[in-house]
Amino acid sequence: MPLQIKVLGGGREVGRSAILVRDEESTLLLDYGVMVTERKPEFPQHVSPKEITAVFVTHAHLDHSGAVPVFFTSSKPPVYMSRITAEFTDILIRDLINLSHYYLPYETLELSTMLENVRVAKHNTTKKVRSFEVTFLNAGHIPGSLSLLVKGQGKCVWYSGDINTIDTMLLKGAEIELPELDLAIIEGTYALVDHPDRKQCERKLVEVLTEVVENKGLALVPAFSVGRAQEVLCILYKYGFDYPVYLDGMARAAAKIMLKYPNEFREFKLLKKALKKAHWVKGAKERKRIREEACVVVTPAGMLSGGAALYYMDKVVKSEYDAVVLVSYQVKGTPGRRLLDEGVYEVDGKLKKVKCRVEWIDLSSHCGKKELQEIIRKLPGNPKVLVVHGEEEACLSLAAWVKEEVGFEAIAPANGEMVTLR
Ligand SMILES: [Zn+2]
Repeated sequence: MPLQIKVLGGGREVGRSAILVRDEESTLLLDYGVMVTERKPEFPQHVSPKEITAVFVTHAHLDHSGAVPVFFTSSKPPVYMSRITAEFTDILIRDLINLSHYYLPYETLELSTMLENVRVAKHNTTKKVRSFEVTFLNAGHIPGSLSLLVKGQGKCVWYSGDINTIDTMLLKGAEIELPELDLAIIEGTYALVDHPDRKQCERKLVEVLTEVVENKGLALVPAFSVGRAQEVLCILYKYGFDYPVYLDGMARAAAKIMLKYPNEFREFKLLKKALKKAHWVKGAKERKRIREEACVVVTPAGMLSGGAALYYMDKVVKSEYDAVVLVSYQVKGTPGRRLLDEGVYEVDGKLKKVKCRVEWIDLSSHCGKKELQEIIRKLPGNPKVLVVHGEEEACLSLAAWVKEEVGFEAIAPANGEMVTLR
């Protein structure tokens, strides 16, 4: 049987990434994430747990890991991920379960069973799973993130996961050294956008936050718990930002985990100092006091879809002295995206124009257009290219560019689409 690759989620969308790779003998899943929306989490297309030989999780973000526990209601496949990813997924998925006021097809028991079945994936090592060999490569996206090289049936498939080739404060960028490929599955989050110079963005962040605080305002920085929140603290530390900075929400638990893994970071000392200098919010009483202070608060959720950020938002949006400084990609349909596009936010059940300042600063941990094109130009062999994990227009446009400029066959598959390698 030829090798089959099917996109189960993340086709022409950001969220619920899931790729199935199958031969006669075994079925591998590369990521199985959820799309967290305001209404209910959306899952990738269904696969029977009995079919799964092994699951590989590139990194802890819920859009790559959040649906994996569904396989542990009736089955126990091995789940490969880095050790730090296992710790992050534990807190992130637990939080999803606790905060869900909607039905989830698994509970903490399934999450625990999943964690018991984790096999540690280390950078630059290879695991043999029946007829497949899977190699784990650094992806430079968040601590513990991997890209995956899958060999089977004489074919070689590379799945980028979420990838960043630029150095950030926390991580060294991914170095892409690949063998001859038959298929490359690459993310296209920023396929339409070139990131501005990183240093310039860092300086702008410090400038904006300084202005707000010196003007006696509160600057709220909604940031993903894992990665972006700590990246912001490192930037502020490095630039000698000397006003009160608070770390709140799940970002505190994620930071605690990071402190156990010095080898996952580019400059662990910087992370340690930055985390020490920030004030970790202790509870509701303190949060209430901080809300009235001139300060910076770094807290999830990065797209304002939940978390401690919402507590501060209720006050911030009503004050012309305060600011919301978004530092992450804002997925369509999230409160963060609406705030950015239309300047509105829901207060007491009603969408209202906000009074506060709203800024978006590009501190992305994904490749931009230029970096994606560079990776693709250098892919060895004559691989077919699948662009996933991007809005429809972004995926289609990158696939068209690949065909025209590089000459590889390329598509932006929809969910459910299958590719066969003969
Ligand atoms: Zn990610």
